[in-house]
Amino acid sequence: MEKINSGATAPDCIFCKIARGEIPSEKLYENEQLFIINDINPKAPVHMLIIPKVHIPTLNDLEDSKLFAEIFKAIKFITQKMNVKDYKTLINTGAGAGQIVFHLHVHILGEVSKI
Ligand code: AMP
Repeated sequence: MEKINSGATAPDCIFCKIARGEIPSEKLYENEQLFIINDINPKAPVHMLIIPKVHIPTLNDLEDSKLFAEIFKAIKFITQKMNVKDYKTLINTGAGAGQIVFHLHVHILGEVSKI
């Protein structure tokens, strides 16, 4: 049977602190499972992060296929809402791949469509 990532939260994790409202941040979108914010250090004209509320350190720790589906639904939703037609998605997994924040997140990197 599939393991489900439970409602874990980590005291010192920066994205958990944002999820708990301890660090102020402008959420572009939020639902029960996840929220979306602009990256503080953007690497593209549009650089958003999709962040599950539950503390999951890396993609390797994601067990919940419903959350997986929610994340992908959120990619489609937010890119349409923000009028971002062409974009890259990126999940850094592990320090060797450049992961700095060990709380699963998906980068969306793109440009705002001119039409
Ligand atoms: P990664 O290298 O995949 O772990 O990416 C972590 C990302 O989180 C980086 O692009 C950071 O700029 C971004 N980041 C860190 N702290 C914040 C914050 N408080 N608000 C928004 N983005 C953040």
